[in-house]
Amino acid sequence: MTSDDIATSATAKRRLLTGDRPTGKLHLGHYVGSIANRVKLQDEYDCYFLIADLHMLTTKPEKEAIDALRANVHDMVLDYLACGIDPKRSTIYLQSAIHAVYEMNLFFGMLVTLPRLSRLPSIKEMAKAAMMEDESVPFGLIGYPVLQAADILMPKSHLVPVGKDNEAHIEITREIARRFNFLYGDTFPEPAAMIGDVPTLPGIDGKGKMSKSLGNAIFLSDDPPSVAKKIRSAYTDPNRIRADIPGNVEGNPIFSLHDAFNTNKQEVEQLKARYREGTVGDVEVKEKLIVALEAFLSPIRQRRAEFERESGLVEQIIYEGTLRTKEIADQTLADMKKAMGLSGLWNKISRKARERMEKKGSV
Ligand code: ATP
Ligand code: MG
Repeated sequence: MTSDDIATSATAKRRLLTGDRPTGKLHLGHYVGSIANRVKLQDEYDCYFLIADLHMLTTKPEKEAIDALRANVHDMVLDYLACGIDPKRSTIYLQSAIHAVYEMNLFFGMLVTLPRLSRLPSIKEMAKAAMMEDESVPFGLIGYPVLQAADILMPKSHLVPVGKDNEAHIEITREIARRFNFLYGDTFPEPAAMIGDVPTLPGIDGKGKMSKSLGNAIFLSDDPPSVAKKIRSAYTDPNRIRADIPGNVEGNPIFSLHDAFNTNKQEVEQLKARYREGTVGDVEVKEKLIVALEAFLSPIRQRRAEFERESGLVEQIIYEGTLRTKEIADQTLADMKKAMGLSGLWNKISRKARERMEKKGSV
């Protein structure tokens, strides 16, 4: 290493990677779980945001889902831009175009056991959300965290901002990185998960986390009447049949949303106190939430509309980001094969074969 290299590595930014499956538009859960941290860390880290279309195939391999990718990817990147992800500072790329990751996925699959992956509750939950019986869970879904490890280790990331449901997957990435380093020599940093301020935002049906695939989400691009309609029909405390009896704030998605998005903390505390003693109705709590959500969503919606008017912008951002990422991925794959001692094998075999064939006059 020259002194120049040392100076570069000392000043080079650490890398951050995270992403989303392009299965629909982004929702409030994505924002508090991961996007807020991405926007905040853009200057401090060299950031990579992947559009995880290969990960979509783990639960949606059908042709219709693939055909819907174009529109979903477009929507998702518009959501990124509207939230403040800046393509001049951060790289947005398409996972399926980075072929080196397919190979990394195969190598990493050798470094983790099947029972370790099969035990993960998050995979069971994804299977459930996709209406899959235990017997119909594909090999690819069990391998979801391995492919995720390939994505994360591809640019040798240090930090991964994700929602709580993904924390166990980052632990798998760490184990794979450790195992690789142990077997073949130091190649990867052990990346850390960074969980958002709201680790799991509940859905408006009160049944679990807000999720694109569960029909319980408020999308960042929802218009005001849709937001109001969703909140007015959202699940609250089911035992509270009248406004003058005490209600439960805990486990009540309306209050989780107030906590996450209402910037008037005093109002939230007062509403909670009145709800607990039975002096405020669901209607008032919900109407105040609608106002708070509008204050948060309206600038996002406005920026989204501005970016949407620029035809080809989203495609150019993905194109440039993907070309940049390809180079990094190829370099990491070369580092991996070299560390593993695999890189020269085919070259050596072909050289030796050609020498013999030339000698025998068969070439
Ligand atoms: P799908 O239904 O297709 O799985 P999803 O809504 O669960 O979609 P993902 O693309 O799986 O979204 O998740 C992208 C990122 O957003 C992950 O880091 C995930 O942890 C985070 N995230 C998703 N939903 C929530 C939520 N309700 N609360 C906090 N973080 C979330
Ligand atoms: Mg998910």
